[in-house]
Amino acid sequence: MDTDVLVIGAGLAGFCASLEALAAGREVVLLEKQPEVGGSTVLSGGAMAFAGTDVQAEAGIEDSDDRLREDLLRVGEHRNDPALVEAYVEAQLDTWRWLREQGVRFTSVQLGGGQSVPRSNRVDTRQMIGALAERAGASHRFTLRTGTPAERLIREGDRVAGARANGEAIRARHGVVLASGGFSRDEVLLALFAPAQRDALRTGGRGNTGDGLRMACAMGAGLADIGYIRGTFGTHPDAGPEQLSIIHAIYKGGIAVNRHGMRFIDESVSYKIIGDACLQQPEGLTFQIFDQAIMDLSVPGVATSDMRAGLEDGRVLQAGTLEALAALAGIDPDGLHTTVARYNADAATGRDMAFGRDGLSSHYGALRAIGTAPFYAFPSTSSVLATYGGIAVDSQMRVRDAFGAPIPGLYAAGEVTGGLHGAAYMTGSSLGKSSIFGRIAGRNAASA
Ligand SMILES: Cc1cc2nc3c(=O)[nH]c(=O)nc-3n(C[C@H](O)[C@H](O)[C@H](O)COP(=O)(O)OP(=O)(O)OC[C@H]3O[C@@H](n4cnc5c(N)ncnc54)[C@H](O)[C@@H]3O)c2cc1C
Repeated sequence: MDTDVLVIGAGLAGFCASLEALAAGREVVLLEKQPEVGGSTVLSGGAMAFAGTDVQAEAGIEDSDDRLREDLLRVGEHRNDPALVEAYVEAQLDTWRWLREQGVRFTSVQLGGGQSVPRSNRVDTRQMIGALAERAGASHRFTLRTGTPAERLIREGDRVAGARANGEAIRARHGVVLASGGFSRDEVLLALFAPAQRDALRTGGRGNTGDGLRMACAMGAGLADIGYIRGTFGTHPDAGPEQLSIIHAIYKGGIAVNRHGMRFIDESVSYKIIGDACLQQPEGLTFQIFDQAIMDLSVPGVATSDMRAGLEDGRVLQAGTLEALAALAGIDPDGLHTTVARYNADAATGRDMAFGRDGLSSHYGALRAIGTAPFYAFPSTSSVLATYGGIAVDSQMRVRDAFGAPIPGLYAAGEVTGGLHGAAYMTGSSLGKSSIFGRIAGRNAASA
């Protein structure tokens, strides 16, 4: 079978790449390993990091390319590839508009980890993938093959010329785009690249087992950011591997404590950093503690901000006093009482003396005292739900070999790639990069 552009993986990056290659007039074959499309994208919280959107403007939030760049670099501890950060910043607002043109609906905006202003532009991820799949499916030049895992890339001379799937060779006249997601469901690669995450939960698409990483490495691809894989704090300990059960009451003013009732970190930092600190606590188990004033900030339907839904389904615990809450959750009551009293006194002055917290997230927003009954606890641990390091690419999404040179014919986008995030992760930049970089990969593969 021959085509112009072969795309491997039907998540957000794969559909964005396919649509751009179709827009360039090419024929596209999109392979998906699972019986259905969507990958980790449809399981996700749907927070997309775009700066300067209408949704932000309507909420009175001022944001800009410069602010976004600064946040990405600060959170990434300047270990990000600056060329990828620049590529993201340059194309982000255009991609936001483009997604809307494809029929994707943005509903609200929230404050996420590592964001200096609320920048998590929310989508319903199934609506997004549905809209993109419908657009692609409307083209007679598009073929989607589900239940068809790519197994190996095919090389002809120094060029990647296609892939083998179900024993069949599929040749791509212009380029191959790897968009096969990360490896949050692959124990071998996690043990190799993220041994510190041994005790973290795993969440993600069933097909996200690092196939693209392996196929690219077999072609000589280099790696980027692979040592910085971290879990996400705020995951309920009973969450299943394909279940989004994350609440971030901390970014609305809550605190995080361990079983002794002790805080262990500045809760305004990236939830990846908090995730690592959480794993160091007894049993790797902690609790987000908040009060009725914070509960009243619940956003219905937005998983990570919908504390009320958590209360209704029993994941959030409620009690009339802190002592009763501690008893219910199995936290030391004296420890919790002392911690909250100390934190509330500090909150009144605007600066937490224990860990230096000075905002809700990344210096944004004023600290809130936890004082209005009833009180709430959300049991929280850390989960590897995406692997932020991966294949090395340049700003055109050409896969780079171990020495930095592009491998002809091979492109990659989305979670399978590394280099954008650096040492840690700002909320929304993963779906953001899948869409922005997916488009770039599709366009460049089409014109190769
Ligand atoms: C619970 C959860 C919450 C999250 N929340 C957010 C959030 O709010 N904001 C954010 O920015 N990020 C979030 N993420 C991360 C984000 O969802 C992913 O990083 C992003 O969706 C990856 O998109 P992708 O297109 O690269 O990969 P995916 O959407 O995972 O798609 C990859 C596809 O490739 C397929 N595939 C794999 N191997 C092969 C093969 N050999 N052949 C063919 N197909 C193959 C897979 O089956 C899958 O369908 C979250 C992730 C999870 C799990």
